[in-house]
Amino acid sequence: MKNAYLLSVLETVKKRNPGEPEFIQAVTEVFETLEPVVEKRPDLVEAGVFDRIVEPERQIIFRVPWVDDQGKVQVNRGFRVQFNSAIGPYKGGIRLHPSVYSGIIKFLGFEQIFKNSLTSLPMGGAKGGSDFDPKGKSDGEVMRFCQSFMTELYRHVGADCDVPAGDIGTGAREIGYLFGQYKRLQNVFTGVLTGKGLTFGGSLARTEATGFGLCYFTEEMLKANGKCFAGKTVVISGSGNVAIYATKKATELGAKVVALSDSNGYVYDKNGIDLALVKQIKEVERKRIKEYVKTHPEAEYHEGCKGIWTIPCDIALPCATQNEIDGESAAILAKNGCFCVSEGANMPSTPEAIEVYFANNMLYGPAKAANAGGVATSGLEMSQNSQRYSWSFEEVDAKLHGIMVNIFKACDSASKEYGMPGNYMAGANIAGFLKVAEAMKAQGCV
Ligand code: NDP
Repeated sequence: MKNAYLLSVLETVKKRNPGEPEFIQAVTEVFETLEPVVEKRPDLVEAGVFDRIVEPERQIIFRVPWVDDQGKVQVNRGFRVQFNSAIGPYKGGIRLHPSVYSGIIKFLGFEQIFKNSLTSLPMGGAKGGSDFDPKGKSDGEVMRFCQSFMTELYRHVGADCDVPAGDIGTGAREIGYLFGQYKRLQNVFTGVLTGKGLTFGGSLARTEATGFGLCYFTEEMLKANGKCFAGKTVVISGSGNVAIYATKKATELGAKVVALSDSNGYVYDKNGIDLALVKQIKEVERKRIKEYVKTHPEAEYHEGCKGIWTIPCDIALPCATQNEIDGESAAILAKNGCFCVSEGANMPSTPEAIEVYFANNMLYGPAKAANAGGVATSGLEMSQNSQRYSWSFEEVDAKLHGIMVNIFKACDSASKEYGMPGNYMAGANIAGFLKVAEAMKAQGCV
């Protein structure tokens, strides 16, 4: 990055947020692609948009005490970062994972601003979470944690103010407990959370949305470059919500998904992943992915996550967590003939990995565009809740598909307009940024 003004804003961000490398990484990546915008739009510099957009509007950090099954008090830390409300109520998921601290929540909240803008729905950016680990906890423990978490959070959220959703470690069970506690505390039945169960305001196709949306975006990017999913070999990391439904849709589009993983290791099934079995292991039994080889002894299980990127494939869809593909793994993917990386997880590629993608002319679908289908469908859930009505699976899926096609078009045309054709990362950042920036400028210095 050469622009002196952006460098000075970035310096302030570094000083203000020490010890938060993921947040600095996310801001740096966005700023690097906004240099042409700074040159073309001095009015946005004048309005202080760049200085303001990197500072959250509000950050809440709170104690989450709960009692475990042995009657012992446990204490976790809860977070909600309400980053930007220029174009709509705050919106973003809740991550429950031991690695959660303010830097992770801030990077996710910052990314969410641009992602939500790209969906073209009126949603601001936010993120929340806790260092609580739902893995290995009983349903009762998870419920008591969620009730305690909401007992503070309810003061700060609301259907027209801030609408949290799921993320790593927060699935239908956790959303149900959070919703129940909010309703009890506020005595209102509103769409304060998305990803709700279908019997209490959830939207059909929300569960599938991020994984399906990732494949719709990727298919569009492939098509624009004379390629498609059909007949291709695909490697997907993770085996959670995003990975499972990305596997389903990629398979429906004619690809063969040969690998999935969790935080312990990965399975490689060259005959194609048996998704019904993975769903049984992960969604029903809540067990580890290594169970897969008990039913499919012809498949391989390997300990450790990184090795998954050494499996030869045409298309890689990282769907687990941040920084899971580094420069070395990206180079191996490229050497093995992988021509497309499209991100289901948030910021799964390190800056060095992204350099490798561009150096090898690989198609690169950045997370804030490629995985926006989840939040887009959350936006559709909010619309249905406001209408007190629900749409069919086909209706929601068709709207999701249309949104993902439009997101690709927006990235593609911004990349061309700003002189970086084919750089969908720059296109996503610029298109997502401009809408929020115009709104921030119009609303004055707030
Ligand atoms: P889940 O909790 O359902 O699944 C996460 C998967 O990733 C699990 O297989 C998990 O393994 C693995 N994983 C998590 N942390 C690590 C780690 N540190 N190292 C290796 N593997 C890890 O989460 P989701 O599928 O919902 O989310 C996955 C990614 O997609 C995240 O980056 C999330 O932010 C992003 N995303 C999710 C959306 C959604 O709608 N759910 C929307 C947009 C983005 P294990 O079980 O062993 O922990």
